[in-house]
Amino acid sequence: MSAKPPFPDIVYPVQISPNVLSEKQGLQGQLDYRLVKFALLRDYRSGKLLQRDICDAHPELMRAAKNVGRPTSEDCPICQDTKLVHVSFAFGHRLPPGGRCITTMQELKELSISSHPISCYVVEVCVTCSWNHLIRLLPLGKLS
Ligand SMILES: [Zn+2]
Repeated sequence: MSAKPPFPDIVYPVQISPNVLSEKQGLQGQLDYRLVKFALLRDYRSGKLLQRDICDAHPELMRAAKNVGRPTSEDCPICQDTKLVHVSFAFGHRLPPGGRCITTMQELKELSISSHPISCYVVEVCVTCSWNHLIRLLPLGKLS
């Protein structure tokens, strides 16, 4: 995933999205990484980053994106030739060390009522150029 800042001297802010703070959705504390994405894209377009620096999806992420990625209506910001897909991975108690790919809303609902804290990472992926970026972190299960 390309979520880590490539230049330590540049601040990549994280934004908390106000529309997900509703208790009805059960998504309190969700972190939104769109500002980080905009900073990466700015650096790519200015030449500070090469395409290979940001289009580096791991083969397992690409496999998940191709097979179980949730389609979006958003064009890839790099190749602009393919619609992005979202892939979700959950990490936490009794989940594999490499995380579990979440493929259904039912799985997400089950994790959200876990008695242990679970972190669900939502990544956008382009299956054509391998652009990938963490867009959201959802704390699920019992928080604390
Ligand atoms: Zn692309």
